This record gives sequence, structure tokens and C-alpha cells, in this order.
Amino acid sequence: MARTEDSPWAVSVAQVASRPGQSKEIDATFPAPSGIGDEIVGVDEGADVSVVGSFDSIVDGLILNARISAPVHAECTRCLKPIQRDWTVNVTSFFPYEDKSAAGKGGKAGKNGKEEEVDIIAGEDEAEDTYPLLDGGAWADLEALLRDTLVEELPLQPLCKPDCKGLCSQCGIDLNENPDHQHDMTDIRFAALEGLKAKLEGKE
Ligand SMILES: [Zn+2]
Ligand SMILES: [Zn+2]
Repeated sequence: MARTEDSPWAVSVAQVASRPGQSKEIDATFPAPSGIGDEIVGVDEGADVSVVGSFDSIVDGLILNARISAPVHAECTRCLKPIQRDWTVNVTSFFPYEDKSAAGKGGKAGKNGKEEEVDIIAGEDEAEDTYPLLDGGAWADLEALLRDTLVEELPLQPLCKPDCKGLCSQCGIDLNENPDHQHDMTDIRFAALEGLKAKLEGKE
């Protein structure tokens, strides 16, 4: 098994995990974990993901409040142009101390009963997730947190700009670049007649 500190996502939190009321600032760049979106909309594995915030210790564990920024690639759903921009998400995550439920631990960032506990502690924030501390509270591993957070925040209907006009449904021309473009039905018929005429005259 790989050592925790060798993980590119491991953050040493031993000094804040010792007692409540401590705070450790984090301002670091991590490689994007695999599995965030796909080729159409996603974050490339290994891309720079910045995490700026702090770990604050409370009685039961550590709270991470952070702003996560990652370069998301996407395709405009209207004009199909590639979009490449930084996506920023604010997260609040809870890293409970292991020994509180040492008997029941196992598995990472479980979708288990623990989350309910967290809701009670946090009060209201439904975006909060729980992740395990490793090696007796010495390390917080951000891999699962980054993946979960970014997957959740990927744009479903990305647009290159809010008022993108999209493509002409008849010929596919980009209406952003050709704002006055439109088809007149009589033009189309006329064009067809012209083509016929050219054929008849042997011009092809
Ligand atoms: Zn567009
Ligand atoms: Zn058109």
C-alpha cells in the first residue's frame, strides 16, 4: 500500500488535528484526479487545481473551507465551440477524527450514516461532505474531495456566452458571427430552380 504522504493530494494536518481551535491555511495546487467528466465536459487528469482556504479544528475533526478552481473544458451546447475556462467552487468539508468511530471505519468517504452526523454539526449546508483523515489524523487526502466536488459542479449545459445565438438550424452557420443570417424560403426555392436551370443548360 502506498504511503499517505506520497499521495499528491495529501495535506499534512497533524499540527491542527491535535486540539480544537487551531487553523491551518492552505494555498496549494494539486493535480486533477482522474474521472472528472469526459472528453466533452470535464477536467483533464493532472490539470492544475488550486485549493485556497483553511483547515479548522473542532472537537470531532477538521473543517475545510476552501475555494477550488480548476480548468474545465467543455463545448458550447448551442454553437459547439470549445470552451476552456476556470471553474471555481466553494466547499465546506468535514474530516472527522477516526477514533470516534474506529470500529466502523473502512472504505473512503462513505455514503454512510456518518453524513447525518455532519448535518447536525453543520446545521444547514447541504453541500457539505465528509472525508476520512488518514494515519491517525496526520493527513487529509484531498483526492476524493476534489473529484466529488468538481464532478458535481461540471456545467450541464455549458454556453460559450450567456446569449450565444447558436447555429442556424438549416445550414449550420454560426449565428454569433452572422447575426443577420436568415433563410428566406423563396430564396431556397429560387436557388433550387437556378440549380435546375444550370443543369438543363449543361453547366452543372
Ligand atoms: Zn456558443
Ligand atoms: Zn442558415
